[in-house]
Amino acid sequence: YHAKRTGQGLHHFVPAIPDGHYTALQYEHDLRQALAQGGQLELHYQPQVDLGSMEVIGFEALVRWRHPEQGLIPPGAFLPVAERTGLIVPLGSWVLRAACTQLQRWSLQTGRPLRMAVNVSAAQLHPPLVAEVRAALEASGAAPGQLELELTESALLTDPARAAGVLADIGALGVRMALDDFGTGYSSLSHLNVFPVNTLKIDRSFVQALQGCPPERSVVRGVVALGHALGISVLAEGAETPQQVAWVRDLGCDAVQGYALGRPVPPEQAAAFLQVRA
Ligand code: C2E
Ligand code: MG
Ligand code: MG
Ligand code: MG
Repeated sequence: YHAKRTGQGLHHFVPAIPDGHYTALQYEHDLRQALAQGGQLELHYQPQVDLGSMEVIGFEALVRWRHPEQGLIPPGAFLPVAERTGLIVPLGSWVLRAACTQLQRWSLQTGRPLRMAVNVSAAQLHPPLVAEVRAALEASGAAPGQLELELTESALLTDPARAAGVLADIGALGVRMALDDFGTGYSSLSHLNVFPVNTLKIDRSFVQALQGCPPERSVVRGVVALGHALGISVLAEGAETPQQVAWVRDLGCDAVQGYALGRPVPPEQAAAFLQVRA
């Protein structure tokens, strides 16, 4: 711990520590401090593009931590700690409020009903989340129908009955729901009946395997058919090339997200997709 405090970056530090638990403690301490002080968490925004019009219809908000010593840390490096320690709850409320504030700002500037997708962890799927979503909408003035919560199927399976109750209450506010990383893990058709799903996000592993690969094509086509039969919109994640964008369009997806159309970027840069200011 002292090595870090004397200015050595964690990048030099981590490989020297055989026990990852020590690092987790460090992260926990620093994240607790970051949440108490404010100013270190940021949201980056990745555009979602309609495959009919090729217009930006909204963004996914993706959290980053600008650590004072380590620089920008991606969510994969600190969310597991946040989830294990319960810090995901205050972190998640911050994300919801910041994303709704940005959503309303851009909606007013463009006069368009943009969508903002916000990721929610299993650990947030408790009754107080309903009040937090309502508070974030009220504080920002954002319209409930423009907010979409992204959940993975494994998050729903932690406690399906509790999740169903929480999501029914949030759905009753008019907030939308997406199943993230669809097709990986525990996909089950019953989720589509039990949870009020508006969007299926086809996992990027399927999109990136489309290259000359008939099985993945059939999977994408099948998810599109399933979604559309149930009135659910289908978005393809992780399209990295114009070819992949064309494929998912031809396979019937409604929308797409991926490096081919825009990486997650800070609000100043994301605003350029809308030709407005941040
Ligand atoms: P996700 O929700 O599936 O988000 C998509 C991830 O794929 C993002 O990584 C994004 O940067 C990346 N991505 C987008 N397009 C492409 C592409 O074309 N190619 C490739 N290779 N990757 C692409 P990121 O930002 O590192 O986020 C990772 C995960 O962390 C997210 O996966 C989500 O599960 C979680 N996460 C991010 N922000 C939040 C948050 O605010 N709250 C919660 N609970 N989870 C979050
Ligand atoms: Mg997501
Ligand atoms: Mg995803
Ligand atoms: Mg993911």
